[in-house]
Amino acid sequence: MEKMQTRLTEIKANIDRAAGRSGRRGRDITLIAVSKMVEPEITRQAYQLGITDFGENRVQELNRKKAFLPEARWHFIGRLQTNKVKDVVGEAYMIHSLDRWGLAEAINKRALSLGIRVPVLVQVNISGADRKTGLVPAELEEFLRSMGQLAALQVRGLMTMAEEDPDPEASRPVFRELSLLRARLAELEFPNVELHHLSMGMSQDYQVAIEEGADMVRIGSALFS
Ligand SMILES: *Cc1c(COP(=O)(O)O)cnc(C)c1O
Repeated sequence: MEKMQTRLTEIKANIDRAAGRSGRRGRDITLIAVSKMVEPEITRQAYQLGITDFGENRVQELNRKKAFLPEARWHFIGRLQTNKVKDVVGEAYMIHSLDRWGLAEAINKRALSLGIRVPVLVQVNISGADRKTGLVPAELEEFLRSMGQLAALQVRGLMTMAEEDPDPEASRPVFRELSLLRARLAELEFPNVELHHLSMGMSQDYQVAIEEGADMVRIGSALFS
């Protein structure tokens, strides 16, 4: 717990400084603690230290930990299989990984049956690497336009993952491009689409991500390992 407190203090100071370099305040940035590698008890300790937002990349794990810590906000950040949609819609505070039309339809259908609307981020594959999930930038405009057909979806922004690289500067062009895409597409004003959030940056590169405009960073190992 003491160790986590020390790490959290350092991460928060880094977030404050990076936010300052991009003309914002630390409180404008949401720290999402990615708890996939820890047990539920650890998330309660983190919550007691003031962390309110957690991220999980597996539906079953999200539900298990949410049952343990229902007062927190649970973000779904992993690749989502269509057959798991029923278990995550209504449970996740936000889904960061909308990456295809079939998934959007499935989320919409489930949300309609529950009578709710679901905040989602559209995942973009900036680097174009095959093994990364997400829409490529060229597909994005058409995809966002089509969201008008899905009344229960609320697109709230964009998400990306950079390649793993020990040098955080290697991620900068990816984050910058997502930021520019957001700025360009936000002017087009599609129904059900409000490009407010940029979810980008992990333990390695969250400071660079914030400098480039991220307002949600997903941090796992720097906090928990
Ligand atoms: C695991 C994971 C993270 C956190 O990664 P760290 O390098 O441990 O900070 C962030 N985003 C996604 C989508 C992840 O799967």
